[in-house]
Amino acid sequence: MTSIEACVIVGAGHAGSQLAIQLRKEGWTGRITLLGDETPLPYHRPPLSKAVLAGEKTLHEIALRPQLMYDNSSVELCLGEKAVEILREKKILKLQSGRLLPYDKLALCLGARVIKLPLGENLCGVFYLRNAADVDAIKQDLAPNKRVVIIGGGYIGLEAAAVLQSLGLHVTVLERATRILQRVTSEPVSDYFTRLHQDKGIKIITGVEVTAINGKEFVESVQCIDGSQYPADIVIIGIGVVPETALAAAAGLTIENGIKVNQFAQTSDASIYAVGDCASHPSFLYQSRIRLESVQNANDQARVAAANLCGKPTLYNSVPWFWSDQYTTKLQSVGLSNHFDSLLVRGDPTNVESGNFTILYGRNGHLIAADCINMPKEFLAAKRLVQERVPWDSVLADGML
Ligand code: NAP
Repeated sequence: MTSIEACVIVGAGHAGSQLAIQLRKEGWTGRITLLGDETPLPYHRPPLSKAVLAGEKTLHEIALRPQLMYDNSSVELCLGEKAVEILREKKILKLQSGRLLPYDKLALCLGARVIKLPLGENLCGVFYLRNAADVDAIKQDLAPNKRVVIIGGGYIGLEAAAVLQSLGLHVTVLERATRILQRVTSEPVSDYFTRLHQDKGIKIITGVEVTAINGKEFVESVQCIDGSQYPADIVIIGIGVVPETALAAAAGLTIENGIKVNQFAQTSDASIYAVGDCASHPSFLYQSRIRLESVQNANDQARVAAANLCGKPTLYNSVPWFWSDQYTTKLQSVGLSNHFDSLLVRGDPTNVESGNFTILYGRNGHLIAADCINMPKEFLAAKRLVQERVPWDSVLADGML
């Protein structure tokens, strides 16, 4: 192994932090620099739209690792710094501050950025929810009985809706698709979450296109193409993310729905790796190139990249999984259910009171994914079965889960 080499990791989210620590564990003895454009210590992102928004946890409490762990692993943390250019021929990373960082290996863990609505940009009370600063700003505006309109009924929108309703605000969710969570799950699960939120008093409006966010200095209402108008003191926009690829694209790396990497997490430049939300990789399980927006992917792919950077060839072959907490309901999903051709429901998704059921998805005669609602044991079993691509016939037989 080329142990005196320097590895620079750009992006200090789940992927970057994991990679830095794992690199040392794998035996990298050269310099490791972890660069992030936010100033706090790298933190867990999932609690932002849940416990942090609810005021139950502070940013300090959701740090991924204490400072001491980076110190003990001799990882140089370089926070509040933004990379602006990769000079590939000289193997130098240029920072906004003017600093030049030479590297032997570079890892891009750049994550994703929110899709912006070109509406209400200068109005007070209009927010996105992606990072710690966003949640800080939202929290300063919260007060019981305020009217919140959430644009986008995906994970962010619904998790925020659950928290804000619990804090005594009046919440309306506007979703462009015909059902909430359409990107990530099937109709029965969308229907279950619709009823869950409606039972708590949230208005869920689907199939609506927002055309304006009105107000003078402060936001006053959200207007839709059908003429409907929703009064609002606060607007939160959660309409998805796009991979952060600009730095890589400008450096001439191949981009294909994210920074294109091979099964070793290596980009089209052998000295540069990419990990997490920003990267698309070949999936053995799904026989296609995929890009995942998940903590699991960030962590697992970072471990694979660390091994490969240390000269231990390791293939990335993890089964994707996700979770979402809304009120006391826990959705745990394994695999990618899009394009399923068979579906098996266990339990009663129409019973919001009891709220525990599992949905299994098959395609071309194999189990490809499962959604488990308040069924943690079934989720663990489903994870193994999806990884093994068990035949759909055996899934139909009782006792698989
Ligand atoms: P998301 O899951 O992609 O959901 C965005 C939703 O907004 C989609 O249903 C989308 O519908 C809808 N939408 C798009 N444009 C719209 C518009 N103009 N008006 C109304 N609705 C619109 O993204 P997200 O909820 O913003 O989350 C952002 C990222 O954070 C994702 O990577 C997500 O996985 C991650 N995250 C994950 C969790 C978790 O795993 N628990 C929690 C929070 C965040 P269309 O299909 O029509 O575009």
